[in-house]
Amino acid sequence: MELNTRAVHAGREDLTDLGLHAVPIDLSTTYPARDSHEEAARLDLAAAGVNLGNSPIYGRVGNPTVSRFETALANLEGTESAVAFATGMAALSACLLAVAAQGKPHIVAVRPLYGTSDHLIGSGLLGTDVTWSTVDSIEKDVRADTGLVIVESPANPTLSEVDIEAITVDVPVLVDNTFATPVLQRPVELGANIVLHSATKFLGGHGDVLGGVVACDEEFARRLRSVRIATGGILHPLAGYLLLRGLSTLPIRIAQASKTATELARRLADHPGVERVHRPRIGGPMVSFDVVGDPHAVIGAVQLITPAVSLGSVDTLIQHPGSLSHHIVAAEDRHGAGIGDRLLRMSVGLEDVEDLWSDLDQALSKS
Ligand SMILES: *Cc1c(COP(=O)(O)O)cnc(C)c1O
Repeated sequence: MELNTRAVHAGREDLTDLGLHAVPIDLSTTYPARDSHEEAARLDLAAAGVNLGNSPIYGRVGNPTVSRFETALANLEGTESAVAFATGMAALSACLLAVAAQGKPHIVAVRPLYGTSDHLIGSGLLGTDVTWSTVDSIEKDVRADTGLVIVESPANPTLSEVDIEAITVDVPVLVDNTFATPVLQRPVELGANIVLHSATKFLGGHGDVLGGVVACDEEFARRLRSVRIATGGILHPLAGYLLLRGLSTLPIRIAQASKTATELARRLADHPGVERVHRPRIGGPMVSFDVVGDPHAVIGAVQLITPAVSLGSVDTLIQHPGSLSHHIVAAEDRHGAGIGDRLLRMSVGLEDVEDLWSDLDQALSKS
């Protein structure tokens, strides 16, 4: 079936036979069983990363509502499996821990990345070490102990793109697909192995749920589930419900917001207060732009647009990466990655384009 259909139906295939319409939310922290021999054997399976399905022993091991979201996201990304976490950063942490545990703690990463991802990878907080690379030097930077190649495309916040198909190394390639969503780009079809999302953003889509998810083959999924059981970063069932609901409107939200973003980008490019507009080739709801004047004045002046970090909501959000999303990255690294001090990042929502343009135009005049 086509993507729009799968976005609505994936993860819900059994509902009609259950006599249900909305997805049930299972808030159980524990799952009773009378046979503890059998439970011990199942716990061994869980520790090895096997998905235990609808009776996962304990809430940290798995959850049926979360599983539905995982099934749906794997379907949309075209992967065997998906594993969901409490946040995008918990998802990235699990990937780093999984490869480090396999004796491959070296990461080859390409900037720019989301600020906290850059910090987590660059600081070596989880026992990994990094070689910051460029798309052209990935192959030469890969070593015998390299566990992952990590790229973001389009990247946060410059919207620069990586030619995923051109990365042909013998090491798992992880693509943070948060900005593209599976509607605009399915990295596994382009040769990547692991797809990461901050589900907090477009997948949830309404600014009211935190989550992260990794889509990958079942072998890596098992390693991630093992890490998730031990470290506890599982997604909450209510978040699983909201994320699954978010997926059903993802294609129409992305299509509508992309249309508006393209028009705003076109107008911004002609605005005297704007030096440069960043817009990815694949489109999407994100527009970044360097202003001629004071970027903080624009943030202070917007009335309709929400001046806030994060992205992917139904309302349009704008923020200054140097102060917020990428503040944690050292200024020289930020500048080296093309993140200027006058760059603003805007996540276009579902408002009418003329209302957004009036607000942007008046805010730019204050800068
Ligand atoms: C927000 C974001 C993250 C981190 O996700 P959280 O859900 O905030 O933990 C990772 N990657 C990208 C590209 C992001 O925008």
